[in-house]
Amino acid sequence: MTIWGENLTAVLCYHDLCKPRESGSWLKVDIDRFERQLVALKKIGTFVRPDALLEPSLLTRSRLNLLLTFDDGFINNLRLGLPVLKRHGVPALFFISTEYMESGEPFWFDRLIRPIEHYCLPGIDLRHLGLGEYSFSPVKGAKRWDDIQLLLEDVKKLDESQDGQLVDRILAVLLPDDHQANNFYEDDRPLNKDELMAMQRSGICCFGSHGHRHRILTKLGDDSLKEELQQSRSILEELLGEPVKHISYPNGNVDSRVVENCREAGYLFGYTIAPGRVSPENDHFRIPRVMVGGFDTTARVLINLARGLLRTGPQAE
Ligand SMILES: [Zn+2]
Repeated sequence: MTIWGENLTAVLCYHDLCKPRESGSWLKVDIDRFERQLVALKKIGTFVRPDALLEPSLLTRSRLNLLLTFDDGFINNLRLGLPVLKRHGVPALFFISTEYMESGEPFWFDRLIRPIEHYCLPGIDLRHLGLGEYSFSPVKGAKRWDDIQLLLEDVKKLDESQDGQLVDRILAVLLPDDHQANNFYEDDRPLNKDELMAMQRSGICCFGSHGHRHRILTKLGDDSLKEELQQSRSILEELLGEPVKHISYPNGNVDSRVVENCREAGYLFGYTIAPGRVSPENDHFRIPRVMVGGFDTTARVLINLARGLLRTGPQAE
C-alpha cells in the first residue's frame, strides 16, 4: 500500500514522434525529449502491458503502474519510437486506423498541416469554403500550432472533412501552382501491414483499434458506426492473429451509444482523452488518459500526470 493506495495506474497518450528539434506541432514529440520522459517516468513507475490494466494481480502494488499508448499509428512510431522502447524495455499499445494502414494515405489533418509547414505559409483565406480567414504566427512553436489548430478545429466541425472533399478543396488553395513533390508525408504516413507485423514481432508492441476511417464515432449513424467498429477489429485480428480488445475513440468522442456498440463489436476497453487515474471502479469504456504533446517538457508531463492521478475518472455505469 502506498500513499496513493494499491495498484495506482495511469495511461499516457502520445501521437507522432519526430527527429530531435523538428517538432512544430502539438502532435509531434521530439524523440530525444520522449526518451528523457520515459527515463523520468521509469523512476516513479513501472510500465505495464495493456492486459494488466484493471487486473490487480498483474499490477505492481508498491509503485505507480503506467500504460503507454500511441494514437493513429504513424511510421515514426516504428522508426523512431521502437528503438527507444526496446532500449528501455517499455511495452506500448498502438491504436491503428485500419483504412489508413491499408491505403497508406496520410490523415486528413496531416494533409493540411504538412504543406502549411513545408511552405511556411503565413495564412490562408478560406471564407469561400464556409471556413474563415486564418493567419499563422511566423515563429515555429506553440503559438503557430494554436493558429493552425483553429483551422483544424473548424474543418473538424464540418462533416465534409470526414470524406476528404473539403480537404481537397483547401489543398487546391494551399498548394502553389508549381507544387510537385508529395514527399511531405514520408515520416508521417500511416504504418502499413508489414510494419505492424514487424512491431508485433518485437514482443513489446500491442495493438488496438482507432476506428477504420478515423471517423468521429458519435457523429455516425447506427450502420456506419457498426461497420467502423467491426471492420477495424476484424482486419487487425486477421493480420495479427490475436484478439483485439482495446479501442481508442478518434478525437476522444464517446457516448453511451458508442460504448454499447463497442461492447457488441467485442471490445473490452475503450480509451478517452479525458485525464484521470485508472481504477477497478472505472468504466472500462471510458478509460482516462494523460495526453502528452510536442510542447510538453518532462517536468510538464510529470505535473500533468500528478494532476491526472488526483482525478478518479468516470465510474462504471
Ligand atoms: Zn486519432
